[in-house]
Amino acid sequence: ISVSDLVDESFKRIHDVEEKVQAFLTLNEEQARAKAKQLDEKLTTEKEFGLLFGMPIGIKDNIVTKGLRTTCASKILYNFDPIYDATVVERLNEADAVTIGKLNMDEFAMGSSTENSGFQLTRNPWDLERVPGGSSGGSAAAVAAGEVPFALGSDTGGSIRQPAAFCGVVGLKPTYGRVSRYGLVAFASSLDQIGPITRTVEDNAYLLQVISGLDPMDSTSANVDVPDYVSALTGDIQGLKIAVPKEYLGEGVSEEVRQSVLQALKVLESLGATWEEVSLPHSKYALATYYLLASSEASANLARFDGVRYGYRTDNAKNLMEMYKQTRSEGFGNEVKRRIMLGTFALSSGYYDAYYKKAQKVRTLIKQDFENVFEKYDVIIGPTTPTPAFKIGEKTSDPLTMYANDILTIPVNLAGVPGISIPCGFVNGLPVGLQIIGKHFDESTIYRVAHAFE
Ligand code: GLN
Repeated sequence: ISVSDLVDESFKRIHDVEEKVQAFLTLNEEQARAKAKQLDEKLTTEKEFGLLFGMPIGIKDNIVTKGLRTTCASKILYNFDPIYDATVVERLNEADAVTIGKLNMDEFAMGSSTENSGFQLTRNPWDLERVPGGSSGGSAAAVAAGEVPFALGSDTGGSIRQPAAFCGVVGLKPTYGRVSRYGLVAFASSLDQIGPITRTVEDNAYLLQVISGLDPMDSTSANVDVPDYVSALTGDIQGLKIAVPKEYLGEGVSEEVRQSVLQALKVLESLGATWEEVSLPHSKYALATYYLLASSEASANLARFDGVRYGYRTDNAKNLMEMYKQTRSEGFGNEVKRRIMLGTFALSSGYYDAYYKKAQKVRTLIKQDFENVFEKYDVIIGPTTPTPAFKIGEKTSDPLTMYANDILTIPVNLAGVPGISIPCGFVNGLPVGLQIIGKHFDESTIYRVAHAFE
C-alpha cells in the first residue's frame, strides 16, 4: 500500500460521511495528495522515515497551519491564513505525517459540545442526534467516523478527554509543559495543552512522541526528557496502586457510568492492580475556580482580535473606536462574549482580590489534593464525564448545565497533571469514557494502564 492509497482512503471516507458528521471546516486535499506523492517517492530513494510516515492527520482549527485557513471556528477569523506553522505541526511534518484538514470546534475552544462553532454543527457518529462533545468535537468525531486515524485537539478544561469519551476514542491531555503551545491560539494560557486523539492507545503514544518536548518558542514548555512512550506499553500492571476519588463516583454521575467504571477496575484488579477509595476534598470548587481563571485569561488573550491586523473587520464604522467595538460585536459569538465580560469583570480593580486572587489560591489547594494522593498511588481513575453524550440542543439554553459537564476533567487542568480518556463500554449504544490521571510528566504510566485494556 502506498501513501497515496492511504490518503485516498481518507478522502474517500470523508466524502462519504462528511455530509452527516460535519467534522471538518477546511480540507487540505490538493496539498495532501501532493505530499503523499512526495512521500511515495521518498520511499524509493531514502532509507530513513519519520515516525508517522504517511499517516493522515486532522488538526483542530485553533492550531495554526501555514497557508491553510485557521479560524478557531470564529467569524472573527473567517479569512485568516497563517504565515507560520505551530511547533506541533512542524514536528508532524518532520515525522512525515500528512495533514488532511482542519477540524471543527467550539469557538475559541469555549464549550463542551461543539455547538458554539461559528460555522457548522458537528454530529456524534454513534448517534447523529447527539453532540460529539467539545471543544475538540470535530477531532474526536473525525477519528470515530474513520475519516482520519490521528487528530490533534486542545484541552484547557477537558476539551480533549470529554469529546474522546463521547465519541468512543482515545484522547490524552499531556502534562502542562509537555507539548509546545507555540502556534496554539491562546484561550487560557496557564491551562491550555495540545494533545493526541486516536482510535488506539498505541497510536496515541506514537503521536505524543512526535509532538512532545522542549521548544524555545514556548517558555512554558518544559525541559524534561521525553521517554519512549511506545515501549511503555508492556501490558504489565502487576502491583499498580490505583486511587479512586469518592467525589468522582458520587452525586451527578449516572448509575450506568459508575457501573462501567467499577467494571473496568475489576479488569485491572484481575491483572494484578489494587484500588482504594480516596478523597480530593477541594473538587467541589474546581468548576467555579476554572470558569473564573479561564475567563480572566481569555479576556486578556482575546484582546488581540481588533479588526486591525487580520481577520474580520466591520464595514460600517465611522471612527477607530467604533471599528473596534463593532468588529468584536459582530465577529464574536455569544459564549465568547460571555467569557470576555466575566473575565474583564473579575480582573477589574476592586474585584481582583475577591475573585481572581481567591481563585488562584483555591487552584493551589486543588493541586495539593492531587499531590497528596500521588504520594501513595500511581494513578487516579474515574469516569471522564458524568453521563454519555447528550442530545443536540439539550444544554444550549443554560450555560451552567453545560459547564457542569466538565466537573471531572477540569481539576486535572488546574493541577497541570496528565489525563487520558479511553472507551470503557457502552450505555444504550453510547460510548462511556474511563479517565486515567497520572503524576506530572508520567504519561508513560497512564499509557501502560490504558494499554492493559487493549
Ligand atoms: N468546556 C470547557 C470550557 O468551555 C472546555 C474548554 C477546553 O478545554 N478548551 O471552557
